[in-house]
Amino acid sequence: MQKHIIKTGQVFGRWSVIKEVEPKRFVTSNRTQIKRCFLCRCLCDSATERAVVLYDLLNGKSISCGCIGNEKTTLRNTTHGMSNTTLYYAWKGMIQRCENPKSREYRWYGAIGITVCSRWRKSPQAFFDDMGPSWKPGLTLDRICGEEGYRKQNCRWITIELQQRNRKDNRRVLCNREPMIMTEAAEYIGIGVHVLKYWLNKGCGITSINGNIIKDQSKLKEKI
Ligand SMILES: [Zn+2]
Repeated sequence: MQKHIIKTGQVFGRWSVIKEVEPKRFVTSNRTQIKRCFLCRCLCDSATERAVVLYDLLNGKSISCGCIGNEKTTLRNTTHGMSNTTLYYAWKGMIQRCENPKSREYRWYGAIGITVCSRWRKSPQAFFDDMGPSWKPGLTLDRICGEEGYRKQNCRWITIELQQRNRKDNRRVLCNREPMIMTEAAEYIGIGVHVLKYWLNKGCGITSINGNIIKDQSKLKEKI
């Protein structure tokens, strides 16, 4: 039988391989099987380490320390039906944007003081209770006032098209490397927003007479 080559750091589901360990012996009434085992660490917060049979890694029978199963159960038990997953991801995305500096979107949220209210932060269930009833498929979470954080009074569900339109008017720019929305940047350097928009549409950035540099974030994605 061909021997599988498994490298340290290779990932199966949430398992990350550390090293090969003693094979496990499985004895049934008519035969004994020896199965290769790998010490793996789960990529969840618990960082559980366990020896996992190679075959279970390869065929997807073992994908985590049990955390994935637990998360699904929590979801099933907290609300009902198919909407759970979407609501859960909306909740998770919101927490990530506001609290995880490694999140791609953090600079537009957490870094500029957009927070999640403590009620929602503590519990996805509280978020489901507040926002679940008004949710419909195809809608996305939106803050009514862009300067304020995530809480029931400032949140609603809107269509993705509407959100994109709002975002276009509130285009994100870097003003001297500081994240701002276009209207703020225009005010900051003292020109009309339509003028700034015109120049940003022409290229990826402008330098104002007093030396402020404004760049269109959407055109810089690869560089930062
Ligand atoms: Zn885990």
